[in-house]
Amino acid sequence: MMAKALLIIDYTNDFVADKGALTCGASGQAIADSIVGLAHTFLKEGQWIILPTDLHVKGDPYHPETKLFPPHNLKDSWGRGLYGSLDEWYRLNKSSDHVYFMDKNRYSAFANTNLENYLRSRGIDELWLTGVCTDICVLHTAVDAYNKNFRLVVPRNAVASFSQSGHEWALNHFRTCLGASVVDA
Ligand code: ZN
Repeated sequence: MMAKALLIIDYTNDFVADKGALTCGASGQAIADSIVGLAHTFLKEGQWIILPTDLHVKGDPYHPETKLFPPHNLKDSWGRGLYGSLDEWYRLNKSSDHVYFMDKNRYSAFANTNLENYLRSRGIDELWLTGVCTDICVLHTAVDAYNKNFRLVVPRNAVASFSQSGHEWALNHFRTCLGASVVDA
C-alpha cells in the first residue's frame, strides 16, 4: 500500500493576501477552506502534508526571478507567512512528523530541494497538488512530478492563479498531458 502526500504550494501572504507583493487576490483567498479541509483529512488518514514555500533574498542579482517579479517571500517577512486559516492549521499541527514545511527557490518544488528523497523514502507515490499559482509553481511542480513517475491529483477548487486563462489552461494541461485526475475536493 503506497502512501500519498498533499502538497500545499506557496500559500503565503505575498501570493494570497490583499496586500501581498505578488497576489492572486480573491481567487487565491477563495481556496483557503478547501486547502485546510484537505490538510485535516490527510492528517487524519495518516497521510503526509508538505508545504513547499518560496524563499528569496531581496534583489538577488543571481536569481532569474529578480528580473521577472517584484520582491516576494523574503526571509522572515510577513509576506512569507502562511495565509489565513492555513497559518492557524500549521501552527496547530507543525509538530507532527507527517507535516513538513520546506523552502524552495525555484517554481518547481523539486528543484534544488530534497523533496524527491523525502517522498521516495516514505513510499509516497501519489501527489495531490494545491496552492498557487496553478500555471506557475503548481505547473512546474506537476511537470517534474510527472517526469519522475508520481501519480497526480489536482483538486480544482484548491488551486488558483492571478490569471484565469492561465488557470484554465493549466488544469487542462494537467489532465491531457500529465495524466492527472482533476477532481472536486
Ligand atoms: Zn519566487
